[in-house]
Amino acid sequence: MTEFRKEQITEHVYRIYGAGDACMYFIQGSEGALQIDTAYGLGDLKSYIDSISKTPYQVIVTHGHADHANGIGQFSKVYMNHRDIELYYSRSDISIRRRLLKKTIPDIDQYPDSAFVPVFTGEFLDLEEGMRFDLGGCSVEVYAAPGHTEGMMVLLVPEDRVCLFGDACGENTFLFRPEASTVYEFRETLHKLLSMQDRYDRILRQHGTCESPKSLVEENLRTADLILAGKDDHVPFDYDGFHAFFAHKTDPSTGKRADGISGNIVYAENKIR
Ligand SMILES: [Zn+2]
Repeated sequence: MTEFRKEQITEHVYRIYGAGDACMYFIQGSEGALQIDTAYGLGDLKSYIDSISKTPYQVIVTHGHADHANGIGQFSKVYMNHRDIELYYSRSDISIRRRLLKKTIPDIDQYPDSAFVPVFTGEFLDLEEGMRFDLGGCSVEVYAAPGHTEGMMVLLVPEDRVCLFGDACGENTFLFRPEASTVYEFRETLHKLLSMQDRYDRILRQHGTCESPKSLVEENLRTADLILAGKDDHVPFDYDGFHAFFAHKTDPSTGKRADGISGNIVYAENKIR
């Protein structure tokens, strides 16, 4: 049985924890609400959100990866950028989800298929840069942030001065799967996230510590520049069948940078330029 729980982050923003290593967010305004991401689709997320929401709500998925989008099968309409639709369908098989969840739920094979949310049969509504959701007392602005995936989007809640990054820019930004942009292209996204920094004080993410100071963007940018100059540490890292590289040396026991700085990039050789 998958349990869900929430933690209040700001006046309107809650972090939602379920099964696995990817958290979610819920933003509650006086007139409406948004569920941000749906994790792996294990357990009854919809009943939980129905029980906590004080208003009607809509569902947004920051990008199409299996650990963010696979709960959408419980909903009839979901906002996601169209560039990630194919990616979602290619990663929604229950066997893929079992494999990814094994690390955090070692007995995942004991769970019956019926514990998993089935593949989405509803309607995708396009989530595009420039969109704004007015929830009453707080709003959510949508920005394209390609890099981690082509359809990766970040969400700014200006009234609460937080920016929800999803996996757009993290302590280890993954840029090695086929759906990732190049490091060169990702720099554009980092410049955009930097240019917005007078409008947010906190970065909220979906993995690990789930929060970072604003300096994370600049650390990723400096890291991208090092990779492009061929001056990064270039430490081999094999993950989920991919041959990738950490730009900065990490402490193997924590996966964090050995020099104590937060922002790192994990990239493939063919994803530099
Ligand atoms: Zn992702």
